[in-house]
Amino acid sequence: MKTIGHLINGTIDTQSSRTQDVFNPSTGEVSKKLAVASKPTVEAAIAAAQAAYPAWRNTPPLKRAKVMFRFKELLERNADEICRLIGEEHGKIAHDAMGELQRGIENVEYACGAPELLKGEFSKNAGPAIDSWSEFQPLGVVAGITPFNFPAMVPLWMYPMAIVCGNTFVLKPSERNPSAVLFIAELLHEAGLPPGVLNVVNGDKEAVDVLLSDARVQAVSFVGSTPIAEYIYTTASAHGKRCQALGGAKNHAIVMPDADMDNAVSALVGAAFGSSGERCMALSVAVAVGDEAADSLISKMTEQMKSLKVGAFSDKSNDFGPLITRAHQEKVTGYISSAEQQGATLVVDGRQPAVAGYDKGFYVGGTLIDNVTAEMTCYKEEIFGPVLLVMRVNSMEEAMQLINDHEYGNGTCIFTRDGEAARYFSDNIMVGMVGINVPLPVPVAYHSFGGWKRSLFGDLHAYGPDAVRFYTKRKTITQRWPSAGVREGAQFSFPS
Ligand code: NAD
Repeated sequence: MKTIGHLINGTIDTQSSRTQDVFNPSTGEVSKKLAVASKPTVEAAIAAAQAAYPAWRNTPPLKRAKVMFRFKELLERNADEICRLIGEEHGKIAHDAMGELQRGIENVEYACGAPELLKGEFSKNAGPAIDSWSEFQPLGVVAGITPFNFPAMVPLWMYPMAIVCGNTFVLKPSERNPSAVLFIAELLHEAGLPPGVLNVVNGDKEAVDVLLSDARVQAVSFVGSTPIAEYIYTTASAHGKRCQALGGAKNHAIVMPDADMDNAVSALVGAAFGSSGERCMALSVAVAVGDEAADSLISKMTEQMKSLKVGAFSDKSNDFGPLITRAHQEKVTGYISSAEQQGATLVVDGRQPAVAGYDKGFYVGGTLIDNVTAEMTCYKEEIFGPVLLVMRVNSMEEAMQLINDHEYGNGTCIFTRDGEAARYFSDNIMVGMVGINVPLPVPVAYHSFGGWKRSLFGDLHAYGPDAVRFYTKRKTITQRWPSAGVREGAQFSFPS
């Protein structure tokens, strides 16, 4: 059985005293072994990044960007193989994996603009014959820690921008699906990246803790669940590092009585069940304003859900695939059972989907639950599965209060034909990414991605313009060249 290793200083290393299984969630079988990094392995990766930093920092941004141009081309040329690797270890169907890869490539395209993005700011004659400018200097060695649900896209949110800004990088991807990440990192080397600029270590908490405490690591980008995000943020900050840690979500869609209901239902089906609901921007709660809207929503949803097809990643006609692990499958079905026990109405039950030929896969079918209330466990916690909760309220204010009271604030959306209501909603809702008749308002690569409240710890969002700020330090230089004869004596106050 193949063992997946680490990429350190441009070389694959599969040595390890500890290994763990990598599963194919579609079949439920172990497909590969993973070498789990110990402290010395992570330290070797940090040392490689540290050694590569001086030359990379001084490589002109235009040359760094050229590596990104070639990288983008290689990603496109190898897209089918990347999607196959994602599917095999994540369970995503090819069309879904291709969508994630495309969003990742858009971040590489944005990174190609490095010479423009790093131009800095200049003021001639900030004082008499005095010029002043601000530069964006790289930080040094930067670390990234990523989740299982977007094995291509989320790492591509981080290292293209970090390294194009002149940093070197150590990536610790999810231990659940490491193959696509490693394959993509090798493509970046094929594109001309010098060894040591990007290193990938596979592993778990042991590897992460080295990255959080090693003094050579200047900054940490994290994406994953909220309890771990909070741990990463507090630990990295306590060690004096810059940190951005993106966490979990509970994304609500308000369905107003005037909404185009057919459109809203189609949008909800895709956004709730696509990728088995394993997206941090998945819509997991529909808040219907008025019983008429709720009844219409439930009846149209039930009808559309009859044609949902769950199955193996390799069959392109499937709408979505399995969950990531057996443990996660059990957790999701546990939330469905708890909703029923706590008084909600189970309208469509996906706990035992029929997937012919794949009875050991980690499948849960699309599930619809009505009459959910704010006290229920299924509402308070992130389920991260193909489960849509429906809540009934009497007004838009009541719906907005629910959203604002929830601990998460990643994404949200309103379905309405009323522009005034939509404007009031987007202005006052306590959420970082807002859609108006757009179910998954994921910002494009030239904006930045991030939630509010306990969906993000730190100040700057991921990718886009915020990434330039996160991965650089501002330095402001003020200069004059006194010519002979125009010399001043000592001054004891600011010029007025
Ligand atoms: P996770 O928090 O379990 O793992 C994320 C990373 O942290 C992995 O690399 C993992 O190895 C590491 N890790 C896990 N436990 C750790 C510990 N105790 N100490 C140190 N490191 C640890 O998340 P996941 O299950 O891989 O991903 C799903 C979660 O990610 C969901 O909550 C989802 O909402 C969230 N997510 C958020 C965003 C966002 O942009 N806000 C995007 C994608 C996923």
